[in-house]
Amino acid sequence: MSLVEYKKKRNFQSTPEPEGKKESTQKKIYVIQQHDASHLHWDLRLEIDGALKSWALPKPPPTDPATKRLAVETEDHPTEYAEFEGTIPVGQYGAGKVTIWDSGTFRTIESEKDKLIIDINGQKLNGAYVLIRTGFGGRKKNWLFFKKKN
Ligand code: MN
Repeated sequence: MSLVEYKKKRNFQSTPEPEGKKESTQKKIYVIQQHDASHLHWDLRLEIDGALKSWALPKPPPTDPATKRLAVETEDHPTEYAEFEGTIPVGQYGAGKVTIWDSGTFRTIESEKDKLIIDINGQKLNGAYVLIRTGFGGRKKNWLFFKKKN
């Protein structure tokens, strides 16, 4: 997912090895699904390494840089899930209605272990966004999701 380690170990002025692109130009799946489960939340999903990395946002996704939202990391979902809308039946995990709140593509600007800067090209969210892990230990799944100031 990240070339940070690879790049750290090499001086590309001195080695003929490829440096790799500074920024990815590849466009990947971006989707946010509104999920009216036991608690209404928004599931942010990004296509990374062939799956949809997922975070649950207890509050509506941020559209201005002043708003920072908690994003709780959840399990990876298959890429096909990006198109899913429907009602998960009572008794099943996540029972409730799922609708697509926003969708489009994103490309990675910066990728580190606990930090991701992405350029989102959606209908509602647009521009550079940051995902940064803020929780450690027992709260390791907690991230913040916010729009980057220009
Ligand atoms: Mn959900």
